[in-house]
Amino acid sequence: MAERVIPLVDERSSVLAAHVPVQPVAASGTLRDTLRRPLRDLRISVTDRCNFRCSYCMPKEVFDKNYPYLPHASLLSFEEITRLARQFVAHGVQKVRLTGGEPLLRKNIEILIGQLAQLRTAQGQPLDITLTTNGSLLARKARALTDAGLQRVTVSLDGLDDAVFRGMNDVDFPVADVLRGIDAARDAGLWPIKVNMVVKRGTNDHEILPMARHFKGTGIVLRFIEYMDVGATNGWRMDEVLPSADVVQRISAQLPLVPLAHTAPGETAQRWAYADGSGEIGVISSVTQAFCGSCNRARLSTEGQLYLCLFASQGHDLRSLLRGNASDADIASAIGHIWQGRTDRYSELRSTLAPDTGDGKRRVEMSYIGG
Ligand code: SAM
Repeated sequence: MAERVIPLVDERSSVLAAHVPVQPVAASGTLRDTLRRPLRDLRISVTDRCNFRCSYCMPKEVFDKNYPYLPHASLLSFEEITRLARQFVAHGVQKVRLTGGEPLLRKNIEILIGQLAQLRTAQGQPLDITLTTNGSLLARKARALTDAGLQRVTVSLDGLDDAVFRGMNDVDFPVADVLRGIDAARDAGLWPIKVNMVVKRGTNDHEILPMARHFKGTGIVLRFIEYMDVGATNGWRMDEVLPSADVVQRISAQLPLVPLAHTAPGETAQRWAYADGSGEIGVISSVTQAFCGSCNRARLSTEGQLYLCLFASQGHDLRSLLRGNASDADIASAIGHIWQGRTDRYSELRSTLAPDTGDGKRRVEMSYIGG
């Protein structure tokens, strides 16, 4: 087995200053990056902490009791997040996803949801607000989230077999409690619900069919995510990636599938319907079929750095602008300028890049930048 290298350098300090450009970039909703990609989707990480230790994301060996999580003063307040979100929306963002770490660990998250729910797009429409969660606190919080204005939710679940799932979350968390959280979300009116399953060959790929059977006919959309080389601590290996094409083939052999058209521009998942009309699944093929060409997502880290790619190694420091004397127009202009200069297309270039050996600029961790 390949030796696992765990880097010890803290890449979070690697930050680019965000400048207010001399030529203002007005927020007109027509922003484009160097590859003509618009800005439509904002993912906001509200905490770098999680109560799971999934080996593909926050392995125990690195994220142990000595790990230097962000101090509270570094975190953006809800008011700061909302102020930034308002500028992103003015530039064309229509959808906001709260993530982390585990977003439901952030105290009073429903207050932030309430604030974001007040924002309106340039067309006067409410934002599409959603949240990605491991489901562990969902049964307790679902009702408060709906009341605050959350519309829907994505729950991560990597298998139905308790031993497999407990092993993957590495904190011995049972499947039944996540399923209870999903039921509570549905009962509270959070809908549609998506379930994300990260597939690791040899670890949980035998759970693909049981998961498909379980959610088929429920209206819940199960999505299979290729195991990705995010961050620098998960010991990623290509031979542990099960290509989405294989996932589709395995399901279709038992439960015939037909392809569906994309519904939203920049959609990450390829959609497939059960031929018998009993619902659909999605596959997210970031490794084997990169979708950088349509990527319209920006990511805001817990401490207010703007990242232009999930695989970026540096962010742009918006918090300094917020906590300095910058006006809303200044901040919008800085965001516009950064987006106009965006060239990122890591997943398309992955195979041509040197492996991340730990001596160059390291990719930021997903728990920090937000999944
Ligand atoms: N804690 C929340 C959760 O569990 O959904 C939100 C954050 S988590 C980083 C967001 C999503 O990223 C989850 O669906 C998780 O399974 C996925 N993810 C994390 N590491 C991944 C990896 N290496 N490859 C593919 N997906 C990954």
